[in-house]
Amino acid sequence: MPNRHIKQILLPEIGAKRQRALAESHALVVGCGALGCVVADQLVRAGVGRLTLVDRDVVEATNLPRQILFDAEDAAQGVPKAVRAAQRLRFVDPSCRVEEHITHLVSSNAGELAEEADIIIDATDNLETRYLLGDLSVQTGLPWVYGGVVGTTGSVALFDGEDGPCLRCAFETPPAIGELPTCDVAGILGAAASVVGGLQAAAALRRLVGDRDHAGEMTTVDVWRPKLSRLRIAKNAHCPCCAKHSFDFLDRRATVTYTKMCGRGSVQITPAAAQQVDFDKLTKALPQGATPRFNGFTLSFELDGSELIVFGDGRVIVGGTTDPERARRVYARVFGA
Ligand SMILES: [Zn+2]
Repeated sequence: MPNRHIKQILLPEIGAKRQRALAESHALVVGCGALGCVVADQLVRAGVGRLTLVDRDVVEATNLPRQILFDAEDAAQGVPKAVRAAQRLRFVDPSCRVEEHITHLVSSNAGELAEEADIIIDATDNLETRYLLGDLSVQTGLPWVYGGVVGTTGSVALFDGEDGPCLRCAFETPPAIGELPTCDVAGILGAAASVVGGLQAAAALRRLVGDRDHAGEMTTVDVWRPKLSRLRIAKNAHCPCCAKHSFDFLDRRATVTYTKMCGRGSVQITPAAAQQVDFDKLTKALPQGATPRFNGFTLSFELDGSELIVFGDGRVIVGGTTDPERARRVYARVFGA
């Protein structure tokens, strides 16, 4: 049988020895949305030997214009993205070891999820998790491929861990809510996600085969009026993260968090510590008329005009609102305050 990666081995940038290094490498992909689907697919096809996927959400019809690992049947069933993505990728290359985690990466589980990884891929849709991954990268010394996309534009950067520069060298604090455009307001073009995810995959492969000269470089692209620019992020000698090793996002004390979910018109409620939900017990405890549906992974039901999805780790997505206070009230009716 011919080597499936022969055309990649022909590349002077890769070659046989570096191809073997890819087979030995392990990528942690955080988020299986528009970017995560593209990056994970490309890494598996390129011959990365092991992949860990982390995603908290289920497939919805509005994901399908961008999220290339899912189809209409997945959306109809509301399958967790991490489960379906892992399944598809095992079909692509059965020799790749793919693990999935249906969870939200937070400070309490980040270290464990990254434990055996060689690189962290940021395919998230919220700033909180991005800054947390930035802390994790510097604390663990793991390279981190940043990626973000909104509208027809996006940006990608490789940050090389401990020594910096890091994201906080350039953007010390995350912008306030409402300061940056989000997919909810500005929309997103699938082709932009494919290009940005492709750039992330290339940056990751380059680092995994040993190149580091692109560390600290940020590439910005607009796919509608094609234009690509690059800038170098300088190390800030006073950076709280890579200079002073103050991991403000990773060390944040665990509390219940309310996250507005990009593109869903919903709020996610994450308990302070992961739980093990007993779905049978919960089903029996629901208010009358809630008509729960269980798909093997999540329990969905309607309450006060909101659709709730409960995950095994205790997270709840409250649909039909982006108001955290309203979501909190609906949540409290079922789970207590
Ligand atoms: Zn820094």
